[in-house]
Amino acid sequence: MNFGGKVIDGHMHFFKMFDENGKTMFEKYDEYQEKYGFKAINLCSIPFGYADISNNILAAMYKLHNPTAYAYGGITFDTFPVKIPVKKGLEPETQYEELMEIGFDGVKLYDCKPKELKMLGIFPDNPFYEKMFAKAEKEGTHIIWHVGDPETFWDIEKAPEWTHRQGYFYGDGTYPSNKEIYDAVLRVLQKHPKLNVTFAHFFFWSDYPERLVDLFEKYENVSIDLVPGSEMYAGILENYDFYKDFFVKYADRIQYGTDITFPVNEPYWETLVTEVYNSVATDKDIEIYCVKGKGLDLPKEVCDKILKENFLRTSKCPTPKSINKKALKKYIEKYAYLIEDKRTKEYILKCAENY
Ligand SMILES: [Zn+2]
Repeated sequence: MNFGGKVIDGHMHFFKMFDENGKTMFEKYDEYQEKYGFKAINLCSIPFGYADISNNILAAMYKLHNPTAYAYGGITFDTFPVKIPVKKGLEPETQYEELMEIGFDGVKLYDCKPKELKMLGIFPDNPFYEKMFAKAEKEGTHIIWHVGDPETFWDIEKAPEWTHRQGYFYGDGTYPSNKEIYDAVLRVLQKHPKLNVTFAHFFFWSDYPERLVDLFEKYENVSIDLVPGSEMYAGILENYDFYKDFFVKYADRIQYGTDITFPVNEPYWETLVTEVYNSVATDKDIEIYCVKGKGLDLPKEVCDKILKENFLRTSKCPTPKSINKKALKKYIEKYAYLIEDKRTKEYILKCAENY
């Protein structure tokens, strides 16, 4: 499948620079964009937990290498759980300003994934984050926010078997509850009702369409993306007729993305790209991570919004922002001590010599 520039992948990740065969993320994502004919791709950085600060830096460097690429930067932490007050200069609002100065197109938040929230020990409505949200709201900066996970992951009866094996079962009493997480996020929205935020993975609410309607009606700048969370496709199938109308009515509030991750799920990229596309643009039966669904076969103008236009509007960047090399160099000098992998650190420091 080649989209001929009609689709933007608004939500992808990488966890390192080099794969086992010595290929770089840069090479792989160049190939990815070309193979599928994406107008643009958006690297969402996760600079703590899964990866480290090098994720922000490499995402910015990729934008230098590929000026059609977007990147959303994240906030990092140097202690777990977070000790407040944090070291001077690591306040979320300071980091936010640094990201904007460097030329990130938006912000990726990963603090409300249950494992990460447990690790950080602070909820998003903590005053710790307040100035960052206030600034992002005022400036209209686009945030892609991962909140929670499928509700079944807290339920011993319903959690998929693999969640136990892979550390995604949250029902052992040591994790924040699903409700605590959503309540805290909704309090942030109450305080900052103009926040320009896309909740990843359909906000894991495909089984609660009435909640999504309520959310969209209350908050004009809130949207969701179609990134699997494959369970959403079962939820959509169960409420198929409802969702056919919902997608048309809220066509401005839904975005395409794949969650492909270099190098982790590479054999699955093709499936993610095509099945997420098929879920809106065709009436085909689809299957993502063993979950079955059916394409909604939406009108072309609705598909155009979901597949491309909504990202351009919410990011407020018709073309990606350019990278301020000086600011990036300053950032690298400040944060290099947090880069764990020696080879990656050397690579980054060497590149930074030329900025
Ligand atoms: Zn993601």
